[in-house]
Amino acid sequence: MRRLAFLLCAVALNVHAETADTVFLNGNIYTVNDKQPRAEAVAVKGERIIFVGLNADAQKFRGPSTRVVDWHGATVVPGMTDSHCHIFGIGERELTLNLEGTNSLEAFLAKVRERVSTTEHGKWITGRGWIETFWKPPQFPTRADLDKIAPDNPVFFTRADGHAAIANSVALKIAGVTRDTPDPFGGKILKDKNGEPNGMLLDNAQDLVAAKFPKPTDAQREEALLAGIKREIGLGWCEIQNAGSDLDDQAIIRRAFDQAKIKLRMINAAWGPGPAANELLKDGATLNAYDHHFTQRTIKAIFDGALGSRGAALLAPYSDKPETSGYLTQKPEELRPMFAEALRRGIQVETHAIGDRTNRTILDLYEEAFKAVPTAQRKIAEPRWRVEHAQILSPQDLPRFAKLHVIASMQPSHAISDLFFAPARLGMARLAGAYAWNSLLKTGTIICGGSDAPVERGEPMIEFYAAVSRKSIHGEQGEGWHPEEAVSREEALKFFTVNAAYAAFEEKDKGSIEPDKLADFTVLSADIMKIPEPQILQTRCSMTVIGGEIVNE
Ligand SMILES: [Zn+2]
Repeated sequence: MRRLAFLLCAVALNVHAETADTVFLNGNIYTVNDKQPRAEAVAVKGERIIFVGLNADAQKFRGPSTRVVDWHGATVVPGMTDSHCHIFGIGERELTLNLEGTNSLEAFLAKVRERVSTTEHGKWITGRGWIETFWKPPQFPTRADLDKIAPDNPVFFTRADGHAAIANSVALKIAGVTRDTPDPFGGKILKDKNGEPNGMLLDNAQDLVAAKFPKPTDAQREEALLAGIKREIGLGWCEIQNAGSDLDDQAIIRRAFDQAKIKLRMINAAWGPGPAANELLKDGATLNAYDHHFTQRTIKAIFDGALGSRGAALLAPYSDKPETSGYLTQKPEELRPMFAEALRRGIQVETHAIGDRTNRTILDLYEEAFKAVPTAQRKIAEPRWRVEHAQILSPQDLPRFAKLHVIASMQPSHAISDLFFAPARLGMARLAGAYAWNSLLKTGTIICGGSDAPVERGEPMIEFYAAVSRKSIHGEQGEGWHPEEAVSREEALKFFTVNAAYAAFEEKDKGSIEPDKLADFTVLSADIMKIPEPQILQTRCSMTVIGGEIVNE
């Protein structure tokens, strides 16, 4: 504020203004600052913005060594944040067999066959990204499908959502999974009609095989991290909020920052309950390390599975499989003490909740914790706890988010991926509270937006398009899609800017283009606030600026 007052004064007196390191001119700028919504130019000193306004006025900040960058009329928005993604998974998807876009079982198997042909016998082959809902028929692959083309290599391919995987017989044998292996808690080993494992492993059952993978070296993990970060910056993300990490991941991230290998801003959550959460509770948060590039103050818990694999916990049975209603993947009695301690220690909590039963239970648990640990006993009065996905809500639970000041962290692309099969899983009535962005906004809920990559593609323009159109990327909208839940472009932009900043306690530093905030900008090839919806998907990031530095163009 002090600096702003000085600037206004300097401009009014027409004396020398502060000299900028960089002046960016000729932008079609959407600031997401209500007091000054549009601008042409920005001046930056160090890593912060010192001026936002007209081209002519920006000239006052030019000195002999000021760099001038001409945006040539490009659209500029505050640096976009992916509020929920998995950065190592994004990188691994780049480095292992990427099965995205395999539109049939045959296409999936063809990709696998090709990889098998170039891999030594006996070596593991892993990959991710298949999704059977678009296949005809939309059925899970089986180990028999894979055994035909991969008889000698253990293979394991994770479904795009990460909540299911297919393994072949070699892999199941290595893991010792037989007809007699019991389902682990929070997971399922699918069986064929003879009672033999058919290769499909849901949620926690995936670990039976995944535990047998050769452990990646630290160098390989770092390679995945950096590959993920490179992709994110190229797409125009200035910050990611990493939805879960173990202690090994954290060591790799910190080392990469120590060696100045990371320019992306990262808000990192620690998996809980378990060692990573315990350490965070013991040591406390890391805030704004590496010049505002790294913060760790959040515990991430996973409380159910996904809708696609019918692992999401529902209040009533699945419409297309009445013998099941999904399952919780954590025991509430194990979450309670962690939640209470988190409040006392000023640690944020975010919990994955897809089904309506899971969402109700987590809101109950949050409410219970807020009562058990009153404000006076908390390190931070306002906990800003989050529910990740908040996907299927019973109408009576919708207003509870705002009432409890719980943030809904939602991924617009999930709606346009899932609404193809959600009507079958849930029936029409339950869709009223599914992906209910506008209904939540009306209750006063703050929604931060993310992609959940590598579950989804993780592209900011796909997320923005999904939020404003609520149509598939081909423009389709089926029965039960609730078009009225699409949001305005202004709201959608907030999901990935100010609301994302708020969800990480950062609204003073990030989320809008205004003086004193960090100079993070996403520059786009088209005006996403005005162009027809389908053109949003063709829009590309033409420049990413983080802390005043052009990190991608
Ligand atoms: Zn996730």
